[in-house]
Amino acid sequence: VSTWSHVPAGPPDPILGVTEAFLRDKDSRKINLGVGAYRDENGKPYVLTSVQKAEELLTAEKLDKEYLPIAGLPSFTKAAAKLAYGAEQKHVQEGAVAVVQSISGTGALRIGGAFLARFYPHSKTIYLPVPSWGNHTPIFRDSGLEVKGYRYFDKGTVGLDFAGMKEDLKNMPEKSIVLLHACAHNPTGVDPTPEQWIEISDIIREKGHFPFFDMAYQGFASGSTVRDAFAVRHFVAAGHEIALSQSFAKNMGLYGERVGAFSVIAEDPEQKARIESQLKIVIRPMYSNPPLHGARIAGTILNRPELYTEWEQEVKGMADRIISMRERLYDNLVRLQTPGEWGHIKRQIGMFSFTGLTQPQTKALAEKAHIYMTADGRISMAGLNNGNIDYFSESVSKAVK
Ligand code: PMP
Repeated sequence: VSTWSHVPAGPPDPILGVTEAFLRDKDSRKINLGVGAYRDENGKPYVLTSVQKAEELLTAEKLDKEYLPIAGLPSFTKAAAKLAYGAEQKHVQEGAVAVVQSISGTGALRIGGAFLARFYPHSKTIYLPVPSWGNHTPIFRDSGLEVKGYRYFDKGTVGLDFAGMKEDLKNMPEKSIVLLHACAHNPTGVDPTPEQWIEISDIIREKGHFPFFDMAYQGFASGSTVRDAFAVRHFVAAGHEIALSQSFAKNMGLYGERVGAFSVIAEDPEQKARIESQLKIVIRPMYSNPPLHGARIAGTILNRPELYTEWEQEVKGMADRIISMRERLYDNLVRLQTPGEWGHIKRQIGMFSFTGLTQPQTKALAEKAHIYMTADGRISMAGLNNGNIDYFSESVSKAVK
């Protein structure tokens, strides 16, 4: 009998399974709105011009392939912290931000989870918004934290359940760890307003909670990296010690290069050094040191003013295209007299939209119209373009009628 005969088959990944069904479908009208990767106007993956230029510069330099330090490429991690917190921010200026390179956003969350599990001096429970990105629960559970939820989304209004969120933040034990999506909440596309963020920050301070921000979409939500950093920067200015996960998958289109950073706001440079020394001890037995190429690309873009400017315009271009698709989808659904209220399509922000479509409707869309999305009715807006939006709108309208 085999050593592994007792190993049961695990369930397929709920998001990547959608792509598998899409790939099996041979219909020419098929649309994949499952996966969260940007697509250009022709539905094709998009490599940013600033990324291409950075790669050309790097090729010309004929760099070696030696290992990076455990904490990653310093010119990249410094620039990543500046991008998130602001170059003029006090802790950035004083060298009091502990920061390490990570294997994209997922790796940053995993390092952060492990660091909190080891050193957070209070209850090691992290509260996630309900719903949250599907990978958050397994990441934090595998990091050694207990996972609980707080109310976030209101199905009735297809918007933020702000009263429920505030009540849950007030009722959870003091000094809890709270995971916050910095912008472009996945999967709902629903973010607090700046005024609401200020209230959330006040409650979190009163209760002594510890905020852990997941920023996977800086620039991608509004088109401005500064505007999308509002919550993170407000919390730090308000005196919170925060932890932060950053991903460059979406805003630089570096998905498979796995570029990210994990940082912690420290009291002073001496404490920062102690925290970084422990982050390295978390990282070393997991993967020793991070990958080189993507960090060089991101670092080159962030550190060269002309490439930085070009990148900011490209981020805005991606965000604007998505926003224009939201407007067209809304207009189409209204024009087709689709039953229901569709204002949320325009109000939501970032890559995803929670359409409000039910599981039977999403199933019917896959079977009858070759349109694929996750079972919760989430669509990646980036999968829509001028070539398929009318077909998509008509199919949704039919499915709802
Ligand atoms: N957090 C959220 C909320 C996300 O949506 C994603 C990407 N789907 C990530 C983190 C991490 O992605 P990656 O590891 O590719 O950076």
